[in-house]
Amino acid sequence: MEGMMRKAVILGERKAGLVEMPIPKPKKDWVLVRMQVIPMCTEYKAWLHGEGNADSRMNILGHEGAGEVVEVAQPCGVNVGDRVVLMGAGPCGRCEYCRSGNFLHCSNQTNYAQFTGETEPTGAYAQYRLGADWLLPKIPEDVSFEKGAMAWCGLGPSFGAMQTMGVGAFDTMLITGAGPVGLGAIVNATYRGARVILVEKEPWRIERAKAMGVKTAFLPDEEGLVAKIKEQTDGLGVTCALDCAGVVASERLCIDATRAKGKVCFIAECSDKLAITVSPDMIRKGLTIIGQWHYSLNDFPMIMQVIRESPLLDLLISHCFPMSQVQEALALSATHQCGKIILDPWT
Ligand SMILES: [Zn+2]
Ligand SMILES: [Zn+2]
Repeated sequence: MEGMMRKAVILGERKAGLVEMPIPKPKKDWVLVRMQVIPMCTEYKAWLHGEGNADSRMNILGHEGAGEVVEVAQPCGVNVGDRVVLMGAGPCGRCEYCRSGNFLHCSNQTNYAQFTGETEPTGAYAQYRLGADWLLPKIPEDVSFEKGAMAWCGLGPSFGAMQTMGVGAFDTMLITGAGPVGLGAIVNATYRGARVILVEKEPWRIERAKAMGVKTAFLPDEEGLVAKIKEQTDGLGVTCALDCAGVVASERLCIDATRAKGKVCFIAECSDKLAITVSPDMIRKGLTIIGQWHYSLNDFPMIMQVIRESPLLDLLISHCFPMSQVQEALALSATHQCGKIILDPWT
């Protein structure tokens, strides 16, 4: 497809806008996808700091999306007209990790800009995007682009965590943080029948969690918080905990509020050091501590089942903006008074 397209970029500190660039060309097994829905993730952090010059990695805005395949370079695993989910771009598709579905751990990443020949990097905040055919799982006919787009950062990290922990109806799960990932965790935990205890400070997010059916919520700075959580769980503590806040205090709370033989999973990025004392925290508690980064591609049909059947998806998606208002959308995202925000690249 010839012509130009619009993409969103960071223009400076707290400043974003649209620029034009050529539509990328499909190449080998990478096909051209016309984007329909672009979920926003943590891009507001780059916006706050104005990390936006052309050679900065942070200018690659967005790594999620749903759209339609509109052009292929050769016969491949998808066809023109297929409705698909985009999950970033780069894994090789051939190494052991990629073949087992755990492509995020691929050790042989393709450089998107180099592969496409683009002079400046492009993320998913664009009208078109290339994607490798094997990494474009199809959205079923009866699922909208909006909901289908939740199959990546909206529901993915917590889905992977709950698969690994084996969360079910007999569990009481502590969820720390109810941002887009934490709200996604509430969707997944509720779908599995688990009871949720939430710790969150932002009133908007507490309200939204309650609207999703969460009955017990605490503030992170409440006195005697661990004891209060234990009171809710026969004095034992939760059976499993999921950190969606990404701060040392919330990580520590997950360990302290989980009962013996319980499981703790970290899915929120954090580069600060968490102190763990092996004997009391792990050996004598029989605690399992897990790090999880999204989910296996092999489980895509299961996450699509959650998307199709959960009545909570409409609450997970809190706002929709035209991409031409990316500035307003990023400003809202930075206030934390939102769930998952989606962009429409065509308005
Ligand atoms: Zn690979
Ligand atoms: Zn993300």
